Amino acid sequence: MEQMWQVEFQRLFAQYLPHLWFLSVVEERPTGVWSVFVDSAKVRFCCEECGHGWTSMKGRVAFWFTLNLMVGEGFVLFKLFGQQCDRCKLGRYEPAMWYPEEVIKVLANVYNRIGQVYYGFYQPPIHRSRRQGKPRTPHNSDLCQACKDGVCTERR
Ligand SMILES: [Zn+2]
Ligand SMILES: [Zn+2]
Repeated sequence: MEQMWQVEFQRLFAQYLPHLWFLSVVEERPTGVWSVFVDSAKVRFCCEECGHGWTSMKGRVAFWFTLNLMVGEGFVLFKLFGQQCDRCKLGRYEPAMWYPEEVIKVLANVYNRIGQVYYGFYQPPIHRSRRQGKPRTPHNSDLCQACKDGVCTERR
């Protein structure tokens, strides 16, 4: 799964050469001074306990990034947030399954945000388009791991 993120990340961020950018997945919000960018995508979940599957337009990803100009290296950390099954409510967050085009979309968005912060991009085009889908239920913060971690944009 992470392979897809790395390949697309390197394809995009090679455009920032001679600066080298690195992508790592993290389990927790990093300490220290980082810029943060939170995005959403259409993702799928499947409960390991009961087999219930659902689609969410609120699949959250948080990126933390920084560029060390002294050595010319930039770092992007990211965390993919899960959701709880609304049938089991075991307090366990199921991992999100990401569609390739959604990975490409959110990486393009963070690429543009970093371009704005460090490379003088004027107006980054933020792509909010998502796969066609009918789920139009309101966001349930109780089931959202990003809400629990305080990075969700729609927390109550
Ligand atoms: Zn379940
Ligand atoms: Zn949330």
